[in-house]
Amino acid sequence: MSAAPVIRSRSLELMPGVQLNVHAVCGPQGSVLIDTGIASMRPQVLDLCAEAQRVAPLRFVLLTHIHADHIGCNRAVWEATAVPFAAAGAIPWAEDLERHYREFCVTDALPDSPGQRREIMSLMDGPVPIQLLLVEGNRFFLGGGVELETIAFPGHKLEEVGFLEARTGTLILGDVLLALAAPFFHGFQTATGFAASLTRLEDLLASGRVQQVRTSHHPPMSPEGALQAAQQTRQALEEVRVATLEAARGVTFEALWREVSRRLGRQAEFRGYATLRAQVGELVGAGELRRDGPLILRS
Ligand SMILES: [Zn+2]
Repeated sequence: MSAAPVIRSRSLELMPGVQLNVHAVCGPQGSVLIDTGIASMRPQVLDLCAEAQRVAPLRFVLLTHIHADHIGCNRAVWEATAVPFAAAGAIPWAEDLERHYREFCVTDALPDSPGQRREIMSLMDGPVPIQLLLVEGNRFFLGGGVELETIAFPGHKLEEVGFLEARTGTLILGDVLLALAAPFFHGFQTATGFAASLTRLEDLLASGRVQQVRTSHHPPMSPEGALQAAQQTRQALEEVRVATLEAARGVTFEALWREVSRRLGRQAEFRGYATLRAQVGELVGAGELRRDGPLILRS
């Protein structure tokens, strides 16, 4: 049996305490790339593709979720390899980057601005067609027992998946374990869905099937390390929930967003805005908050 590494990666430091990792999984009969990083990683990502191709032909690019820092070299990889891209949803955000920017970043409180536009658009090198829709249970057989199983982890993004490689027991995740060292809310689209995904992750880590965990924004982790990171992510969700309830004293959404950001020491920017919009919506749905015209208050 060859000792060639199954998992290969390239990394950079995105900001203090936050890595950005791109992974390739290589079996004797095929390889896949998981996410493509940001546009400035182009040399490293193309080098990773070439390294994978030397082991076995690149079959697919699998996207954990469609956020700018996970799809940044899509165009370069597509032009270099012509392999099909697969994602679990939010397909238009990979195929139409202007729409990605507008839907992700632009709100009444945060209108289109050159700075905000540059911050996001400069991360991505161009659109690509997504040719395959990933769903829970999809398997990719790469030979020699190297096999990826697709696992759904909705939360940070509604359409987010991870992959468990069977031969090495490597669980490869995007942002299920949040980058809590970031100065902004590394947020979520569903708080309750995220909590359920964390439970699912903890169960998987306890099952004995996972030997190591690779994520987009952390160094490689043991299952124990990942359990700890899952606890920290769960705690961060709880802090947002509690701060949202406490800030809901008959204020507008914009005032609530600014207050929760201040309390939790996070920049008041678009990720936090979207996160709190989701959080308020869920708490209203659960009957813990109510709306009175433009104002949000405890029930
Ligand atoms: Zn993300």
